Amino acid sequence: MSKRVVSFHYTLTDPSGKQLDSSVGADPLTYMEGVGQIIPGLEKVLASLKVGDKQIVKVTAAEAYGEREERFVVKVPRESLPPGEMHVGDEFQAAEDPDGHPFRVIAVDAKEATLDANHPLAGIDLSFDIEVVLVREATAEELTHGHAHGPGGHH
Ligand code: ZN
Repeated sequence: MSKRVVSFHYTLTDPSGKQLDSSVGADPLTYMEGVGQIIPGLEKVLASLKVGDKQIVKVTAAEAYGEREERFVVKVPRESLPPGEMHVGDEFQAAEDPDGHPFRVIAVDAKEATLDANHPLAGIDLSFDIEVVLVREATAEELTHGHAHGPGGHH
């Protein structure tokens, strides 16, 4: 069984054209096909591309980070949260769910905080301007681990 490992540069924008993220000027993103390392809507398109290909890939929210779910937004009394200052944009992990999405503070006053556990990109249709820079076969070690290793070797 063989799998491809693909490295690509990307610039990510939202529907208004605002840049959300970019790998340009840094290391490209490297992933192994078929293991869910990147969002499905992007992997589907990259599967047909080769080194040097450039493309703008539009991915709906549903095929990217999912739709926003209002049930992931909760109001919590201030006294049941860690003491100290809390600001909009702070993130923390629920103690009972260490592997879950972190909560982001989206509103806070003296009495309560509103916390949002949606992925920050949930509900947003994304546009990826991509360029494939490397395609190779996965190594035996990568196949065993179930993920791609970067240029510097293991992890
Ligand atoms: Zn590994």
